[in-house]
Amino acid sequence: MNHHSTSASSSSHALLEGIAIATNKLLTIRDHHDAVQQALAALGQSIQVDRIYIFENHPHPESGEVCTSQRWEWVALGIVPEIDNPILQNLYYYDFIPRWYNWLGRGKVISGLVEEFPASEQEVLAPQGIQSILVVPITIRDLFWGFIGFDDCHRKRIWKEVEQAALLALGGTIGGAIVQRRSEIQMRELNDALEQRVRDRTQELQAAKDSAEELVRDRTGELRVEKEKAEQRSQILEATLQELQQTQSQLIQTEKMSALGELIAGIVHDINNPVGFINGNLSHAETYLAEVFQVLALYEQHYPEPPNEIQDLRQDVDLDFIREDFPEMLTSMRLGTQRIVEIVRSLRRFSRTDETYLQAVDLHGQLDDTLTILRARLKGKYPIQVLKEYGDLPPLECYAGQLSQVFMNILSNAIDAIGERADGATEPFQGTITIRTHSAGGKVMLDISDNGLGMTTETRERLFESFFTTKPLGKGTGLGMAIAHRVITERHGGTISCASELGQGTTFTLTLPLERAIAGKAKVA
Ligand code: ADP
Ligand code: MG
Repeated sequence: MNHHSTSASSSSHALLEGIAIATNKLLTIRDHHDAVQQALAALGQSIQVDRIYIFENHPHPESGEVCTSQRWEWVALGIVPEIDNPILQNLYYYDFIPRWYNWLGRGKVISGLVEEFPASEQEVLAPQGIQSILVVPITIRDLFWGFIGFDDCHRKRIWKEVEQAALLALGGTIGGAIVQRRSEIQMRELNDALEQRVRDRTQELQAAKDSAEELVRDRTGELRVEKEKAEQRSQILEATLQELQQTQSQLIQTEKMSALGELIAGIVHDINNPVGFINGNLSHAETYLAEVFQVLALYEQHYPEPPNEIQDLRQDVDLDFIREDFPEMLTSMRLGTQRIVEIVRSLRRFSRTDETYLQAVDLHGQLDDTLTILRARLKGKYPIQVLKEYGDLPPLECYAGQLSQVFMNILSNAIDAIGERADGATEPFQGTITIRTHSAGGKVMLDISDNGLGMTTETRERLFESFFTTKPLGKGTGLGMAIAHRVITERHGGTISCASELGQGTTFTLTLPLERAIAGKAKVA
């Protein structure tokens, strides 16, 4: 046991030392659960508290509302662990500790003596023997992920501000460790799955090739006349094999896309909850303030001559302004949350993975969703204006997610091309993307033009080839247009073509049959 003196400097010193050890454990121990556990233990021993624990926020398994559960705990000798306490699993903030959610969610710490806390909080804390508590948030990529708490069951410990700040920083480190592990695991799983698929496909292809070769060998042995025919067949099989290998690379790409879709769906889910909170609280805030003003108005009516102190303050605080400005503030906050909801909705539609059936969709909505997702890139280094000339379109029967993918690929290329032209321009250059749609003769026609750098004839001719790219390593995959071609022609029985002039810009023209007849047998170029 440590017996540090309690003088300010030495206890702060112990705390910093504890944090240093804990950080080191977080960064060096490979097993993530173990790392956090050992970090807590190191910390507990150095700073001499009785209990340290970490809670993670998540949607309630039944209601979907935000709640929080204890995930890790360290206790000092002789202190009862609470990790199995059922009340600390799926705990609603709103039932017991609403203040915590608002406070921690804004990156602030909670600290103090339990006897001075609100009754609903004491109800949770007192039975655990806690006298003094410090709770700091864990934030992951600006989202309130959970919190780490420090209980003292023996002393009415008051946490110094430097100590609070140091532990708040530790909360960030823990968040970093968690998110790093999480994405490592996701990446590993994704990679494993992909590698397995590649192995499977390669085996299949090899087997097909072997048996084809065997066939050729047998036949040549048996009949010379048949030999030529067999060789021809082997050639066809070689070609098929090549095509299959190409398909395989596209398969990987598609697979990555759908994994990305799932990832997005997960994130969308995580964003939804906090946005709900904000939205819900906004209308409360509005009512509360209206009530406060009502009370104020009554006061003013009945006490028109308040004491000087109030009059002074009344003059300093421009109440009339607040009364006018506050609703506007709420309106813009509401607009903000609506914007988030919109983006989330687009992301959700975009990440749809149930692509096994055709559905009738509003093509313009699909285009707008894709533009929403590309918003950041459109507003990037060279802001690009998007002109929409939408015609009257009936619903289109299609694989919606795949079409979004095509729009995404075409628009991304357009943005790249505009960026390249702007990079090389001597004067400020205004990039423009124009999207035109109309329908006639049972078809939808769609033009997407950009005034970017355009392409050479050679590039235009090879554009739809898999792995053809003019972009530097790491930027282009050369798969975007190959996939677009396949999706439009083979999956939708449509056409895609391209006109481009170097230095002027590019137009892609797509046609899609409104109703999906038998799949067109177009071949990938
Ligand atoms: P990537 O974008 O990964 O290079 P793509 O298949 O999407 O692969 O595009 C292939 C190539 O076609 C690009 O590298 C580029 O040279 C050319 N390209 C595609 N779209 C455009 C465009 N709108 N403007 C100019 N070049 C384009
Ligand atoms: Mg591309």
